[in-house]
Amino acid sequence: MSNVLRPLYLHINPARYHYLKFILEAYDGLCLLSTVPGKKGCVCIRYPQEQTETLYALLAGLAHSLKPDFSHLKRNTSLMSSKSFFIKTFGCQMNERDSEIMAQLLSEKGYIETSESDDADLIILNTCSIRAKAEQKVMSLLGVLRKHKKRKPDLKICVAVCVAQQEGKRIIERMPHVNLVIGTQNIYQLAELLEKLKKPSVLTALADEYHIPAFIPDLKTADNADSQPKVFKKFLTIMQGCNNYCTYCVVPYTRGREVSREVSHILQEAHVLVEGGVKEITLLGQNVNSYGRTNTVKKGDASYTFSDLLRAVAEVPGLQRLRFTTSNPKDLSDDLMRCFAEVDILCPQFHLPVQSGSNRILSLMNRKYSRELYLEQVAALRSYCPQIAITTDMIIGFPGETDQDFEDTMSLLEEVHYHGSYSFKYSDRPGTRSAAFEDKVEESVKSERLLRFQTRQDQISLEHNQSYIGQNIAILIEKTGENSLVGRTGTNHLVHIPDTICNCVPGEIMTAHIVHAGHHSLRGTL
Ligand code: SF4
Repeated sequence: MSNVLRPLYLHINPARYHYLKFILEAYDGLCLLSTVPGKKGCVCIRYPQEQTETLYALLAGLAHSLKPDFSHLKRNTSLMSSKSFFIKTFGCQMNERDSEIMAQLLSEKGYIETSESDDADLIILNTCSIRAKAEQKVMSLLGVLRKHKKRKPDLKICVAVCVAQQEGKRIIERMPHVNLVIGTQNIYQLAELLEKLKKPSVLTALADEYHIPAFIPDLKTADNADSQPKVFKKFLTIMQGCNNYCTYCVVPYTRGREVSREVSHILQEAHVLVEGGVKEITLLGQNVNSYGRTNTVKKGDASYTFSDLLRAVAEVPGLQRLRFTTSNPKDLSDDLMRCFAEVDILCPQFHLPVQSGSNRILSLMNRKYSRELYLEQVAALRSYCPQIAITTDMIIGFPGETDQDFEDTMSLLEEVHYHGSYSFKYSDRPGTRSAAFEDKVEESVKSERLLRFQTRQDQISLEHNQSYIGQNIAILIEKTGENSLVGRTGTNHLVHIPDTICNCVPGEIMTAHIVHAGHHSLRGTL
């Protein structure tokens, strides 16, 4: 018997899973049956090539003799020849959304998603180039996949999105086992590109024209195909790219010029999502605050702003929670801040990246706002919505950052008292202006400063979290276990509820009584 087992994916009636397993185990070498996580009713049968005919004959016999229980299997026999794919996503929410889009495009073409890269015929690395470390991870994973492909020569490897856009054909020069390189603007052509890939075996697609197709997902035929909706929160892209050219950032080069999506497309997608069972939508863009500034977003009305859009999406019947990310303070309007007081379903949470507390460094970063303006915005947000949880991004050790600049960052942390922050050591990115700046900060100094910042942030986060103890807070259930569940508050805190028996399902909103606080999550009871 061959050591290489081929995967075969098909849909069956979930109630017949154990019966099929029992039958298959009676046949030598056909015993590897497993469910596919996240795809109810989908199973994977691993079998040796020489058993192909036996297996197909057996399945055909079962489908015929066990009607109606196996009728679903019979309807889906086309899946027997389906290819499978695995997507590894690096980076931000924009990349997560791009992975969802690619997964849906592949599902529409009959591909099946797997949870293990070993099972896949196609592996897509959805890459991030915002920091050197993220890019290094992609390159080292590609090194591992080189060996994988030697064992499985038909495997197709695709590098997509930011590193693909930035490095282009250089990826194939360095990693000749990669088959397809697709840039940020080309993900919508994924299925066609895979078709073309049969000949030649290597392809790159790197458009530099910027637009967002009217891509409206159909949740009824995709993620929520089963009776129980599994998808209850979704990202909704409203714009892409960025025109700000912060001196350290690759985004304007990898995701291109800012382009806003048409209002009608966004609202149509929001309706489809909510009708498919989605309860929470996060509006997504590199700088949502400048939505509509550089493009006409509604015929005849170029002045349609992000706050107009936010209020319009909030009106979608059935939507229970609304969030957005991410924002540049230089474009933050008073009207948008007022939404936190006026739009009921807007969650009291704001990620407002500041990057540094020093005006001198902000100017070197080309951020176009001052520390003083930022503090005014924080005060205004808290006056509109006293319970708002404000988080930020911070770059530590930007070129030229002195001890005093770093003290300004620490004092800003004290003044704002962030609920949380994402802080990173500065790293040069190819093609950015700051990569050519002199006066780089020593690695050891960056590390010391980062540790000091993160240690203090952890203490402050814990103080905030402890203030929730004793409160009853609404949580959206995200995961349920045998006798535990996990939910999320409007302020974006995870709440673990252990030792509870509850019939609730993901997507329901419940009230949790908070009894304990950690640095990064809360614990409660129902
Ligand atoms: S606003 Fe600045 S940091 Fe944010 S994506 Fe644009 S260039 Fe990058």
